[in-house]
Amino acid sequence: MASSIISGIQSDKLLSKIMNSLYDGVYCMDLDRNIVFWNNAAEKLTGYSRDEVIGNSCANNILNHISEDGVCLCKEGCPAVKSMTDGQNREVLAYLHHKVGYRRPVYIRTSPIVDENENIIGAVEIFSSASMFVAMKQTNERLKKLAFLDELTELPNRRFANQTLEEFLWTFSNHNTKFGVAIYDIDNFKKINDTYGHDVGDQALKMVASTLKMAIRENDVICRWGGEEFLFICHCNSEKELLNICDRHRVFVENSFIDNKGEILTATISGGKCFVCEKTSINDSIKRADENLYTSKLSGKNQIH
Ligand code: GH3
Ligand code: MG
Ligand code: MG
Repeated sequence: MASSIISGIQSDKLLSKIMNSLYDGVYCMDLDRNIVFWNNAAEKLTGYSRDEVIGNSCANNILNHISEDGVCLCKEGCPAVKSMTDGQNREVLAYLHHKVGYRRPVYIRTSPIVDENENIIGAVEIFSSASMFVAMKQTNERLKKLAFLDELTELPNRRFANQTLEEFLWTFSNHNTKFGVAIYDIDNFKKINDTYGHDVGDQALKMVASTLKMAIRENDVICRWGGEEFLFICHCNSEKELLNICDRHRVFVENSFIDNKGEILTATISGGKCFVCEKTSINDSIKRADENLYTSKLSGKNQIH
């Protein structure tokens, strides 16, 4: 009964004409998830003709909607089924399967269909191409990456470091989550440049950057602070813990090398740390770390103060 009410759209000439003139794909299903209406735009967007689709259950995975997070919506979390269940409208971005095989991003809006007694008898899904939106999002992600990434080392840059410091300080002020910062500077780097040339200097810089990137723990942050200096930021509970973490980084770098045409080149770093456990400013923490770095350099380099 419900099916015939909905599929009546097809036989209602005016309604059918209106539905088929839309740019958006529209399809309707009954309570058993049988597809009972499929408009022209749905044919165009999916490649499936109405003859191939009508009468099939949408649970049969014809369109195989997959959410942005990779969840197969036809099996778990079908928005149309949810709309039929709770009577609410829904909007999701999903990737549907086109008949020829590729995935197509679409905006999906679902609503329940109710009869004259306000009983839910099915659902309607309206979907439109989201290709432009997805392309724009990808461009934005790329720009975001470019704005926060140092090209040479592929570490986050100073702008990102400053933003991260603000976030750590905010968390400290609001949740008392102590943290530490450290500045690392490659020792005698001018000598590497002067002896082997700027390109080899770049390689050495990248080697130190990669070593530090691999050495940090999951939630720690290492950034290129400038030149051959790096800023390290991490959550920690004591001076001692911070010192141990930083010293581990120093040892990792000390034991890494590049092979320059058969010659093994090594580098070391000196570091200055600052444990943040009382109200302070970012500038003061960096200043303290920088003073400690200076002490490390004066005391013979390849050490953390
Ligand atoms: P110290 O042990 O006191 O740190 O001595 P240093 O020779 O490392 O001296 P300093 O830190 O002052 O010099 C840094 C040098 O790093 C100067 C600069 O030419 C070089 N440098 C900065 N950025 C780059 C880069 O991107 N590539 C290369 N190859 N060299 C760089
Ligand atoms: Mg320097
Ligand atoms: Mg240096």
